[in-house]
Amino acid sequence: MEMQQPRGGGLVLSCLVEQCSWWKNRECHAPRIQVGSEHPTCDTYTTESQVSQATESEPPVSNCSVQACKFNEQGEQCMAPGITVGHHADHADCDTYVPMAM
Ligand code: SF4
Repeated sequence: MEMQQPRGGGLVLSCLVEQCSWWKNRECHAPRIQVGSEHPTCDTYTTESQVSQATESEPPVSNCSVQACKFNEQGEQCMAPGITVGHHADHADCDTYVPMAM
């Protein structure tokens, strides 16, 4: 999957999904992540063995399409100061998702 350039917004402060190839020491080492193809999923999650982890952790959320989240701006940008990612069924979800007040 082609990843989009960061537009600012949240950093991935921690991740509990140790099955992911980008994961090391409770941190994400992907260059950036995308969220929200279905509910607040981490779309960058992968179990493929061929990934080159970045030396630095805390990558930015380059794009989030979860319009129902209170941190989402213009349907594409995460404005949370930082996010955490955790397990949901057999994939990974953004646990910082907060539904917008009605
Ligand atoms: S599940 Fe997402 S946030 Fe966690 S290590 Fe993988 S790509 Fe990073």
